[in-house]
Amino acid sequence: MRSKSCPPGTYHQLSSLLEEVKSEFFTEELEASIMWGRAPRRTRRRKRTSIVFGSWWEQQKRIRIHPALDRPWVPEEFIRFIIYHELCHAVAKPKQGQGRKRQVHHPEFKALENRYPDSARLRAMSRDILARISKEEMSAFSIGRRHTFR
Ligand SMILES: [Zn+2]
Repeated sequence: MRSKSCPPGTYHQLSSLLEEVKSEFFTEELEASIMWGRAPRRTRRRKRTSIVFGSWWEQQKRIRIHPALDRPWVPEEFIRFIIYHELCHAVAKPKQGQGRKRQVHHPEFKALENRYPDSARLRAMSRDILARISKEEMSAFSIGRRHTFR
């Protein structure tokens, strides 16, 4: 299935990265499109402590990648890994956990994510990338312990 193509970024071409990740790692036909875009603010958060680099929109079957990542020094392998992570959401759906909490990154999800080569190293990269972006943007957010993609 073809994804709707996304306006190209200046440095990273999301549509072609998505196609590559899909064909390399998924045998099933995944319905997914991709675009540059921000994730919505979490309403209760008072202060921005991080950037959500990637998000999966189940209803639209769409990945959004934060435009702050469209920088020449952001490694393509990092963006590919985020795309892979978001595609895992299309396969390993959220579960209703104990009580009323919805589990998104449950053990099955993590097992799938960990199939990606070098996933631990790539996941760990997000902190340095966030630090460098925040330095470049001279913005007020501090580096918290929040996940940088979800
Ligand atoms: Zn996630």
